[in-house]
This record gives sequence, structure tokens and C-alpha cells, in this order.
Amino acid sequence: MNEIVYLDNAATTSLDPVVLEAMLPFLTNYYGNPSSSYSIGRKSKTAIEASRKKVADLLGVKSTSIYFTSGGTESNNTAIATAVKTLGCTHIITSAIEHHAVLHTVEHYCADKNITCSFVKLNEYGEVDYNDLELQLNSQTKAGIKCLVSLMHANNEIGTLLDLKQAGEICNRYGAIFHSDCVQTIGHYPLQLAEYGVHFASASGHKFHGPKGTGILYVSAGTKITPLIHGGGQERKVRAGTENVHGMIGFAKALELAHENYLADQIYINTLNKAMRDGLLQLSPEISFNNNDNALYTVLSVNFPGNMETDLLLAMLDQAGICASGGSACSSGDDHGSHVMHALGKKQSGATIRFSFSKLTRMGDIDIAITTLAGILKYPLSLA
Ligand code: PLP
Repeated sequence: MNEIVYLDNAATTSLDPVVLEAMLPFLTNYYGNPSSSYSIGRKSKTAIEASRKKVADLLGVKSTSIYFTSGGTESNNTAIATAVKTLGCTHIITSAIEHHAVLHTVEHYCADKNITCSFVKLNEYGEVDYNDLELQLNSQTKAGIKCLVSLMHANNEIGTLLDLKQAGEICNRYGAIFHSDCVQTIGHYPLQLAEYGVHFASASGHKFHGPKGTGILYVSAGTKITPLIHGGGQERKVRAGTENVHGMIGFAKALELAHENYLADQIYINTLNKAMRDGLLQLSPEISFNNNDNALYTVLSVNFPGNMETDLLLAMLDQAGICASGGSACSSGDDHGSHVMHALGKKQSGATIRFSFSKLTRMGDIDIAITTLAGILKYPLSLA
């Protein structure tokens, strides 16, 4: 098999070998159940609590605010379930471009006739209209309705960023509960979660070179939390089930590495992103981008004009060993295509592909992708 050119790091990243090394002893020698009182059990328990403290310190919060979960989906579900079932929220304000882990969960709770939801206005890049958020909160609060606001920190398809602080200030002014899906940003920015007024924030380990099936939910001090999974007393009775010890250790190690190297990695990944953008524009000035200037630096969402559909272009890239993903303009309004493109009214013909980069992407990968795209789309190559 030819070497893979992996440009889909917003979907998942490869496990950092240093993270694997930290995890391995807990998959081999230290297999004790953390709830057991003998030595190898205690060893597992101590490692979990050390990992929790590491994560909490890196995110600028207390250990008691960090719950380990199976990933972003579970964290989002737990936050929304808590707001609705325990915190008295009967109206949910979210956006049409959230990940399905939020949108489908909101839909699930809004099937209950006592819970309503609304979408905040977005501009063409998916940026939140803060005036509209405030207007909506104002009218709900005046009617005596308590709100949950669930807005993602960065969109996973086009990278649009939310101003967490501004959104948090508005939510707090109206006594709303504020949840942010930070799956694409925790591990990519040195976030200090206590500073933004968020009650809940979700993260996922596999987005920053940690293991799959690992995540955290941050819960601000004094905010109650309701279990989604019932059973034993693990995770302070919030998340039952024998702990994924090696996963928790991997999550913490990956976050530590991400914070240690954040600046250098960001500069490097920005260079890759710019090289891809410039290279594509050299192929054709008609190629356009869905990201705004201030977007998450790991993603580049590209529109290729012409008749080739997203799925076909992705399949041809796959045949050439290039991994990327769709984000195609939805022309029919059905389930086919990207709900993000559809919500933002980007319904042009041609393919929309998301390329996403990591610290392990090589500049040579970008060159191969551009040369391959030139061949598939029959653009003349005029690379320097
Ligand atoms: N939220 C966002 C923005 C994501 O990009 C993803 C993963 O693609 C998720 C949530 C789900 O995270 P997980 O795969 O850890 O369940």
C-alpha cells in the first residue's frame, strides 16, 4: 500500500507515541481495578487522580470540576441532559451548525413538549450574532423561562470561532446556563476555562493525538451535574462503570504535550494551512474557501467549482491515498451533504472538501495533495 497522506485531522488524529508510552503500563502491569483496595488497584486510582489534576491544572480549573467521559459526544449529552433535567432549563438556544452530538441531543429533549429550542442568527461564516443571542435571552428571561445556551467554540467543518468570553458574559447577564462544545479547540489553544463564564465545556482526546473513546466534561464550581450512566460510584457518582484508566492517562498526557508545544505547533500548522490555500489558488483562482480570516488554524474548507460532486472527488482522492472529508453543499435539503453548508446557504455546484492538519502533517503531504488535485480536476500545474 502506498503511504497515506492524512489530511483529516479534525476527524481524528494519530496517537502520539509518547502518549502510548504513558498508557502502556496501565494496559499491562498495572491492571488493577481502581475501586479495589489492594496495591495495584490503588496504583490505578492514584494514576487517575494525578491525570485529573494534570488536566485541571492545564485548563486553569479545580480537579473537582473535571469528569472523565468516553468523548465529546457523551460530554455534550451529559451537559445538555443536566441543564434540562436538573438545572431547570426549559428553553435551549443553540446554532444550526453545531455538531450532531449537540443538535441531535437538543432535538431529543425538545421532543418533550415542555422544552423548546431556537437557533441564534449566524452570518455567512457561521459567526454568532451576539445581539440576537442577547435579544433571545432577554425575551425568554422576561417570560420567566430559564435558558441553556449551547454554542460550539470552533466549528469542525469551517473552523469558525466563538468569542467564549463575550458569549459567557451575555449568558451570565441573563442567568442562563452556558455549555460550549470545545472538542475542536481544547488541545489546540491553551484555554483557561474558569475565565469565560462557561458552566460546561466538552473535550475529546482523539482530536489532539490522545486515544479515541476519551474525553472530559468541565463543570464549573457550584454547578450541579446529573449522571447519564447509572451504576457504581465512579467519577464521584456522575459516570458509572469501571474507569478507562489507560484512556484517562492518555488524555492527560496528550493535553500536556499539546500545551507544552502549543505555540510552535500552531505556527507550523498555520504554515501548512497557508501553503495549501496558496497552492490551490495557483491551480485556479476560482477555487474558494469557507473559512474566515480568524478561523481555527487546523482546518481549511475548500470549494472546487465545476461539476464533480464531493463524494466522487473524495473517492478519487482516497484512491490516490489522500484522506480528507466532505462538507459538501447540500442541494436538496435532505440528509445528504453537510448540514453546516446547508445552514449557511452555501449551495453552489461542485465539491466542498475539508482538509485538516496536525503537527505530524508534512509539507510534502500538501504538495502531493495539490499535485493530485491538479491531475483529478485537470488543472494545469504551475507550481514553483
Ligand atoms: N463535537 C465536535 C465539534 C466534534 O468535531 C466531534 C467529533 O467529530 C464531536 C463533538 C464528537 O466527539 P467524540 O468523537 O469524542 O464523541
